[in-house]
Amino acid sequence: MAERAEELDIAIIGAGFSGLYAVHKFREKYKIVCFEAGDGVGGTWYWNRYPGARVDIESVEYSYSFDEELQQEWKWPEYFSAQPDLERYANHVADRFDLRKDIRLSNAVKSLRFDADTNRWHVHSENGDHVICKYIIAATGALSAPNMPDWPGRDAYTGEIYHTTQWPDEPLDLKDKRVGIIGTGSTSIQAAPILAERSKHLTVFQRTPAFSMPSGNRPLDEEHEREWKENYSERRAQILNTYGVSLIEYPTKAAGECTPEEQTAILEAGWASKSAFQLMVAFTDVMTNRNANDVVSEFARGKIRDIVDDPETAEKLCPKDYPIGAKRLCIDNGYYEMYNRDNVSLVDVKDAPITAFTETGLKTTDASHDLDVIVTATGFDALTGALNRIDIQGANGINLRDKWRDGPTTAYGFMVAGFPNLFMIHGPLSPGALAQMITSGEWQVDFVAGVIGDLENDGYARIDTTEAAEQSWAAEVNGAASHTVYDLADSWYNGKNIDGKKGGFMIYVGGFPRYRALCEGAVKNDYEGFLRS
Ligand code: NAP
Repeated sequence: MAERAEELDIAIIGAGFSGLYAVHKFREKYKIVCFEAGDGVGGTWYWNRYPGARVDIESVEYSYSFDEELQQEWKWPEYFSAQPDLERYANHVADRFDLRKDIRLSNAVKSLRFDADTNRWHVHSENGDHVICKYIIAATGALSAPNMPDWPGRDAYTGEIYHTTQWPDEPLDLKDKRVGIIGTGSTSIQAAPILAERSKHLTVFQRTPAFSMPSGNRPLDEEHEREWKENYSERRAQILNTYGVSLIEYPTKAAGECTPEEQTAILEAGWASKSAFQLMVAFTDVMTNRNANDVVSEFARGKIRDIVDDPETAEKLCPKDYPIGAKRLCIDNGYYEMYNRDNVSLVDVKDAPITAFTETGLKTTDASHDLDVIVTATGFDALTGALNRIDIQGANGINLRDKWRDGPTTAYGFMVAGFPNLFMIHGPLSPGALAQMITSGEWQVDFVAGVIGDLENDGYARIDTTEAAEQSWAAEVNGAASHTVYDLADSWYNGKNIDGKKGGFMIYVGGFPRYRALCEGAVKNDYEGFLRS
């Protein structure tokens, strides 16, 4: 029997925080559906349920602004919410706004095909659904396609393996187990101290050491909460006018304008600030001037050497090959202190890489390690991975994967030439992953809603962008990055965390106010860089 297609207006891909907001935003005017791969809502905060998973932006900020009652009524227990609280919040929002009836869980989108004759997208999902719709909102997440090491021998390994995005629901009994964790990014730095407490022995396999600062997480005090709730609307507006969509304390002085004593005082205050990322904004030029960055990097290395008792381990943990902040600054709860425990060891796999799983653990070029549990905290095929895992065929039969073979091309991070009526939220070359993602995501959804509203009002069937617009956006993105030290590390920001991935620097770091102005300017300028028909 031929499958029956449903005709709708909009298909939203992903029920993470941006996707949920998109469901809420679009459902009133349009017939919509939202496809979600997981069997629950919350995206990042649904998948990442490893021990210690916690946001590192204050929850009073890192929350929805679209509904005054919601933001007044919701109570966050801690400054930096743990994953269970964030997942609970996503579920609350889904229930409170009755979003679930438009969300199809455990139903990942498999392919998208644009029919240029009818100007409609054909969406096929894993469960066999076929939806025909005018618009696609891809809220697929910047960090949602896990990167799994593909060393040989995985099937031979007799222990348990978990990627941090696929953590089991039932508690793991690790007390008699030798656990190995691969990677030292934000995820591992959160998980490792807890795994060390729970296991017989923890081995951390480190390829590149990370810079981390203490999170200072604590219960949310009532005064702080009251103050935010009384001033929410002004603060949310203010947030959108900040560089990274966050009200962290921004500096007024460059490092060179301070005496060494002043520099130390500022850095000590930043370290103790209980506010994440304060080291990256200790001076105005930390991310734009290598000398200023060196001052901060050396300060952070000094902290590692102070905290870690064994000098050899401390030296191994000190990043020396890249500027602080060029790989995402990690925020921890006792990460460096963990290395003072007797049951933790650090294995450097930079010079002697892991080459294979064995029956009993892992093999590097110079040793074998017996492990009962292996945790792969090896990160993500970020920014492009989630979209590239869907088979997406645009207007002229071009496949997105082919188009992006040498790296992603977009206009403003939200459209790709040849893929009409497909809008990305937090897409590659948008500020998304380096901005506070809930508020910037809401802004992007609202912006796309404005574009769709204009198309409908003006009677257009489609909007596309052009290769020229993509090139000029690439120049803007590269220009912004070239004034910074962001590209001076191998990271998921530039795809160099994945073997063979091409792309260059994939995030817009010109600041959110400029980003908004450029997007809004293009629209006001009669959709400059876009083609409507
Ligand atoms: P990540 O930062 O990319 O770290 C992955 C780690 O795995 C790196 O240390 C990497 O080493 C290592 N690795 C990858 N492949 C390896 C291999 N074949 N052999 C040895 N080591 C290997 O990923 P993540 O820690 O999952 O974090 C990703 C992003 O998610 C963060 O940057 C952050 O934006 C977000 N996040 C946020 C929070 C939070 O809000 N608190 C928490 C977790 C994650 P190399 O550095 O050498 O590549």
